[in-house]
Amino acid sequence: MKRTGAQIVWESLLQEGVEVVFGYPGGAIMPVYDALLDYPQIHHVLVRHEENAAFAAGGYARASGRVGVCMATSGPGATNLVTGLADAMLDSVPVVAITGQVASYLVGSDAFQETDVTGVTLPVTKHNYLVKDIGELPQVMKEAFYIARSGRPGPVLVDICKDVQFASTDFDYAATKVRLPGYQPRLRGADEQIRRAADLINASRRPVILAGHGIILSGAHEELRELAERGNIPISTTLLGIGSMPESHPLNLRMMGMHGEAWVNQAIQQADLLIALGMRFDDRVTGNLKTYAVNARKIHVEIDPSEVNKNVQVDVALIGDLKEVLGELLPQVKKAEHADWWAAINVNRGDSAVRDIKNLPDSGHLYAAHVINDIWGLQKDPEMAKELIGKTALLEFRLVETGDFIMKISDKIRDLGLKPEEGMQNSEVLKLVPTGYVLMSGRERNFYLKFVILSFSILVLPL
Ligand SMILES: Cc1cc2nc3c(=O)[nH]c(=O)nc-3n(C[C@H](O)[C@H](O)[C@H](O)COP(=O)(O)OP(=O)(O)OC[C@H]3O[C@@H](n4cnc5c(N)ncnc54)[C@H](O)[C@@H]3O)c2cc1C
Repeated sequence: MKRTGAQIVWESLLQEGVEVVFGYPGGAIMPVYDALLDYPQIHHVLVRHEENAAFAAGGYARASGRVGVCMATSGPGATNLVTGLADAMLDSVPVVAITGQVASYLVGSDAFQETDVTGVTLPVTKHNYLVKDIGELPQVMKEAFYIARSGRPGPVLVDICKDVQFASTDFDYAATKVRLPGYQPRLRGADEQIRRAADLINASRRPVILAGHGIILSGAHEELRELAERGNIPISTTLLGIGSMPESHPLNLRMMGMHGEAWVNQAIQQADLLIALGMRFDDRVTGNLKTYAVNARKIHVEIDPSEVNKNVQVDVALIGDLKEVLGELLPQVKKAEHADWWAAINVNRGDSAVRDIKNLPDSGHLYAAHVINDIWGLQKDPEMAKELIGKTALLEFRLVETGDFIMKISDKIRDLGLKPEEGMQNSEVLKLVPTGYVLMSGRERNFYLKFVILSFSILVLPL
């Protein structure tokens, strides 16, 4: 059946299961917006600024586990998406951004509101496309979703020339095939590497598991728990790995890195083996690389080969999807107790439990930790989504028990995604933000908000 480019955009979205699109219209994407009227199944959230569309799409993806979609016009509309795309790129979030471009015969002429959007977004997208021919559009849409959600998830941008949106072609999305011979994410680990990893784990006396965001992305929570419990191995999570293991689990030391407790980082520094699972050794985690865990052998399970040996040299690299790789590794891992190792960790842990936000004694002073703890207690749904940035994160990570913890905190974040709760219809969303934040995103205040403003100059951290 014949469809216009504009119709192909919406019908592809429908067939990809998209229900919500965050966007802002403009001249070069207007044909697509005009066609939206015929697709009432799709809920379009009209943002006040394109930057918020990209963040909201990322927030929606994190909350729902689906691909988030944002839309903008050419030139300034498209370039306003860049920060949100960079965020999704660094945090491995599946997003498809659709932008309008000037007509194909004007590309390269510095036409009105023309910007080289594929050039601008090349470093902050997993892949991007400029569509100048209507015949390519169905396949590009299919590939965009496939790339965004497969392997290491990430943002894909589709820049569609305005004349392509008006043009027509035969359209059969189900029959459209992904043809990407150069893109084949590897899911299974190599047998020899798995055997070497098992040998290292079985020989280790002071192992620590570093659990990252990849556990959550691959849904390997059970495999992680089984590995830790079988070897009685302490786990420390990255900030984005929070939720991969219940915070209350006795093997969970909690968060590592710059804002982790000292004894957690000591355990990592004193380990003889680090088992890094779906984490990318961010500098907030490692500090000075020259002194980072120098006495530990290292195993890295990672789906993206470019992450291996990028920051930290490892002894065994297992390239593949965590769920699959751990499934293959587990039968070769022997039971162990590591009693001496736990005794040493517990000595380091010392009396730091008293600083736990949940057990904070009432000293007559009102600290931010008390307020946040009380807010938590007031919530009807203790598993609600959390969004927070900056300093509040230092408090909040201690409270989280589930995988519903959502953070948009990567590269220089100005977290503006204000409707990720679309993906969690029955949950309340609590945002804990620094005061300046409210002004940063104030223009998006088109929904119900409760404000609790904590000033860190008055309500200081008791740490
Ligand atoms: C103010 C501030 C302070 C911070 N302080 C800290 C801190 O103290 N401690 C801390 O940990 N972080 C901190 N961060 C966050 C930090 O910058 C990084 O965002 C975080 O450490 C990244 O965690 P990650 O490597 O687990 O996740 P990501 O960056 O999302 O990396 C996930 C990795 O998993 C891989 N992966 C994805 N899917 C799969 C799969 N299916 N199978 C296998 N692998 C997969 C990806 O390729 C990627 O390499 C801070 C951030 C801010 C803004």
